Amino acid sequence: MSGELFRLSLKEAMAYAAKHGSADISAALTGRIRSLNTQINAFLRCAEDTHHPPVKGPLGGLPVAYKDNICIRGQETTCASKILKGHVPPYDATVVRKLREAGGTFLGQCNMDEFAFGSSCETSAYGICRIPWDTDRVPGGSSGGSAAAVAADMALAALGSDTGGSIRQPASFCGVVGLKPTYGRVSRYGLIAFGSSFDQIGPLTKTVEDSAIMLNLIAGHDPLDSTSADRPVPDFTKALRRDVRGLKIGVPKEYSVEGIDPEVEKSVVAAAEVLKKLGADIRTVSLPHTQYSVAVYYIVAVAEASSNLGRYDGVEYGLRATEKNLKEMYFETRDRGFGQEAKRRILLGTFVLSAGYYEAFYLKGQKVRTLIRQDFENAFREVDLLLAPTAPTAAFKVGEKMNDPLAMYLSDIFTIPVNLAGIPAISIPCGLTSAGLPIGLQLMARPFDEETLFRAAYTFEQETEHYRKKPSI
Ligand code: GLN
Repeated sequence: MSGELFRLSLKEAMAYAAKHGSADISAALTGRIRSLNTQINAFLRCAEDTHHPPVKGPLGGLPVAYKDNICIRGQETTCASKILKGHVPPYDATVVRKLREAGGTFLGQCNMDEFAFGSSCETSAYGICRIPWDTDRVPGGSSGGSAAAVAADMALAALGSDTGGSIRQPASFCGVVGLKPTYGRVSRYGLIAFGSSFDQIGPLTKTVEDSAIMLNLIAGHDPLDSTSADRPVPDFTKALRRDVRGLKIGVPKEYSVEGIDPEVEKSVVAAAEVLKKLGADIRTVSLPHTQYSVAVYYIVAVAEASSNLGRYDGVEYGLRATEKNLKEMYFETRDRGFGQEAKRRILLGTFVLSAGYYEAFYLKGQKVRTLIRQDFENAFREVDLLLAPTAPTAAFKVGEKMNDPLAMYLSDIFTIPVNLAGIPAISIPCGLTSAGLPIGLQLMARPFDEETLFRAAYTFEQETEHYRKKPSI
């Protein structure tokens, strides 16, 4: 048994650690990482010391993995960018502090798209990450390393961040559970900013129950993040009831788009059937402004990104390319430090914010964002949840979309509207394609109603047990 301890769910590991301590599990995980990471490249850095003294708190010393854009005091944190190479934050992100206080220890930092720009993990400056299901394929992005680590049993649970789908789309590609909480539910303090009005930290886990456990540990108001919500945090594990009777679930008709893989569509329709059989009231709803979501996101989110990335200039963080003179230091540092996708976003973002274009693009984008948010408000007057695919396809091949940014951007077509509206959503496994690749089902809920998400996700998971299918690596 002890050799296979890495296969435990977080919940099972907590029960084991409460009896026997966490050392065996930590050792099993680090062994697993050692044997698989050269193939998968899910981890950029790992804990060296596997021997933990007994730790109090619900996690009892169990190790947790973090996306490499979450600041950990004294630990190099790079956002998978060359520009932050050698950057060692002098403070912990609030989520890191909270997990530590809950008895969590440090397992390692996971690969990602550079600055979270991407849907495949291929923009990482530190090498491509691959899925354990088929190592010719990408894990999705940007939290691809976090999702692949959990899928390959290299981590019990990992934190990721989601600006336009970066937790849910990799969860879908890797066959794990990914939760994007409501904007404001989890503190962003210490999350290296991409799009500050979108970014949200959330867990990637093996089960829905583990997701609720993790959200319990990281949620809550934080005076250090003025956008974090000052409202009570329920015990999310109490929402894990196997019952969807009477729940009204809407299927947005605009989400049946061209380009969606018929196998994905089929398995999502089948998922809706399952919930219907269990007593949910499934109906079609309309989110009329859906078609503008990707365009609006690539105006507003890149505007925020270009402003957030202005601080990397060789002065304070990471790389300083030259000290010849100030101007050259700025230019050279940014030229050598940022990868191609980061540069594309900085240019786009600066463009839409510049005089003359601000009104035409940024301001208009904000207005359409409001319309998209209102679409959801209207839909949630009629239904309790929305159901859709997480992504239009299963995991694609390494290199397949790298030279076609638009095709890459369109892989977030079903996840981006959620971030524009700030609502919570979860991706859970709902089957495999004929090629044996995971498919993700997305459920979306009203702001701060993660409980209903968990309830429906748990019911579906327990009924279908798709989560038990594992890659044979
Ligand atoms: N793939 C989307 C993008 O490239 C979303 C990324 C994210 O959520 N961080 O922006």
